[in-house]
Amino acid sequence: MNAVTATRAGRVLIVEDEQDLARLIVHHLGSISAHAEAVGDGRQGLARAINGAWDMLVLDIRLPGLGGLEVCRQVREQDPGLPILMLTALGSELDRVMGLESGADDYLVKPFGVLELQARARALMRRGRLTAGIPQANGLETRETYRVGGLSIDRSNHRAWHGGSELTLTRRESDLLAHFVRHPGQVFTRDQLLDAVWGPSHDGFDHTVNSHINRLRAKLRAVAPDTVRIETLWRVGYRLVA
Ligand code: CA
Repeated sequence: MNAVTATRAGRVLIVEDEQDLARLIVHHLGSISAHAEAVGDGRQGLARAINGAWDMLVLDIRLPGLGGLEVCRQVREQDPGLPILMLTALGSELDRVMGLESGADDYLVKPFGVLELQARARALMRRGRLTAGIPQANGLETRETYRVGGLSIDRSNHRAWHGGSELTLTRRESDLLAHFVRHPGQVFTRDQLLDAVWGPSHDGFDHTVNSHINRLRAKLRAVAPDTVRIETLWRVGYRLVA
C-alpha cells in the first residue's frame, strides 16, 4: 500500500485451459501495462495464485485438475484481498458466480470483448488491494461500507454480510467488528478496544470485551468459517485475520 505498489504494472495470473484464449488475454492485458502469465490447469493455478505476488487473478470455471469455483474458494481463504475475475459461460455457471458462492469480485461471460476485459481488469486492479478496510462510496449510496475477506459491514445501519448471508449483530458487536475490519491484521489490547468501541468514558471491564468477542466469533464462524476470524494473541490482544 504505497506509491510503488500503486504505480508499478499489475501482475495478473490467468488460469484458463483454452490456450488461444489465454494467449489473447495475456496480450490484451499487456496492452494496459499489466504483466500477465497463464496456466492451463486448476491445481497448478491454485498453487501459483497462493505462492505468487499477484494483483489480480483471472479464473476460468471449467478447468482440468481443479474447477475454477473451488480454486476461487481456496484462494479466498489464503488471500482474501486478491481481486478475482471469473470467466463464465452463460447459464448455471453464471448463476453460481452471481450467487456469490465463489467469492469472485467480478465476472465476464464468454465470449467477451477486449475493451470489456481491459475495463474490468483496470477497475479491479485499481480498487484491488487498496480497499481493505477503506470506506467505499458506491455512487448510489454514501453509506460507510467496509469490506475485508468477503465480509462487508455497513456502519450506518449496523448490518454485515458474508457470501450473501447476513450476520445478525447487536449495535456493540457491529461497532466492534467494524473496528477490526477497518484495521485488518492490527492487534488491539482489551483496553484499546474498550476505548475505541465503548468510548473513553466506558464503565466496561476486560471480560466485557471477551464476551463480546466470543459472541462475534460464533457469529462469524456461522457464516465465514474459514475466511474471517478474530485471533487471540496470548497476553497481547486480538486481531482480525482475513
Ligand atoms: Ca475452460
